[in-house]
Amino acid sequence: MSSLPLLRAFPCLSALLLIMAPGLPSSASAQSFRFPSSDAHAQYFYVTAYFDHGSLTDWSCGNDTYAGHRGNDFGMGSWTGMDEGRDIVAAAEGVVIDTHDGEFDQCTSGDCAGGGGFGNHVRIRHANGETSIYAHLKQWSVSVSIGDWVSCGQLLGQAGSSGYSTGPHLHFERRDTAAARAGSWLDQGSYQDLPGLQCDAPVADCAPISALSCGDRLYFRNDDPASQNLRAFYGCSDPADSGPYDLYRYTGPEVSWRFATNLDEEVSLRLTDMSADLDLYLLRGPSCDARVCETASTEGSNLDENISFDAESGTEYIVVVDGWREAVSYFTLSVECGGEWPEDPTPSPSPEPSPSSSSTPTEVADTTPTEVGSGCDCSAAHQTLPAPVLLLPLLLILRARRQIEPRQNPDRERATSQAAIR
Ligand SMILES: [Zn+2]
Repeated sequence: MSSLPLLRAFPCLSALLLIMAPGLPSSASAQSFRFPSSDAHAQYFYVTAYFDHGSLTDWSCGNDTYAGHRGNDFGMGSWTGMDEGRDIVAAAEGVVIDTHDGEFDQCTSGDCAGGGGFGNHVRIRHANGETSIYAHLKQWSVSVSIGDWVSCGQLLGQAGSSGYSTGPHLHFERRDTAAARAGSWLDQGSYQDLPGLQCDAPVADCAPISALSCGDRLYFRNDDPASQNLRAFYGCSDPADSGPYDLYRYTGPEVSWRFATNLDEEVSLRLTDMSADLDLYLLRGPSCDARVCETASTEGSNLDENISFDAESGTEYIVVVDGWREAVSYFTLSVECGGEWPEDPTPSPSPEPSPSSSSTPTEVADTTPTEVGSGCDCSAAHQTLPAPVLLLPLLLILRARRQIEPRQNPDRERATSQAAIR
């Protein structure tokens, strides 16, 4: 028997099937949104049209929508309110990937040109790759730029009537996944009431990560590619045209390490021996919040990835190995540093490097995925950083080693180690 009669009898069943279809992101990984106006200005808005789930049916099996409507419309009553200014804010944190401003904002015909029908608008990409669009904004009210990181509730602009609009309102739309469209307000609210103003919990905070040093060569495996945890938040490509995993922020828990040198020197990172498409990213900033992308190597297939950069002494970098989509693979990560300590005009006796410090790898035991991926204790990560007291002997040892092993010995690999992966 065909299921068609059943669907006709219960028009919203089709929407339910969409939500429950296997293979879609689970609710845990979907982005949840707050109502996109400020706490002070939300009171001026009301629902005028929901997303059309098909057959002119809204999320609650009502008909408060119109054919093919891809977003939610929230009216604000009057032109006076628009003149006074009604804040539109980010419904969740993310990176701004598109803005448009300057269009006429008192459209009443529903077909004013500009902004692709959205008029003045802002588009944000969120943690799991979904995007949200804030459309028909007031002329010259857009207050963010492409590439900006915005927190949930941050001001984006003000409501207007630009683009395909017949009066002042906000068109809020989310894209990329069917599940998201089906309902991803953190608090939907009752029918025809506004969604809640509470923000979704921030995505994963920083996980403790271990240190990477000049001369290291690690054999490793990424067990947690972005496609599985949906929490990749970093990248080095143009936010306007890059994929959903390229955002300017590191939050863990990808396979990643801290790296710092004591010299201004050229450093080469090499990712080799892969069986899948892994990419290599270099970010700058403290472990828990490295948002500045230095550079990346994103060759396709299982080609080697190579990054060379001029490391600044004392600057903390984050090295990230990213599994693209389904990519899970063993790999070798090598770090080579090209710096030399300057000649000391007044040589003094150098302390001998202790056998234990020169023959053991640096915290390799800390680089198991279990530790990389568990917990959110940023303070723990920083506690493992060399304190000034610990740094001095390390400097002396490094200095002694570099005097013992001058440039003619290119093999500066301090250690070769294998990390057992679960
Ligand atoms: Zn709309």
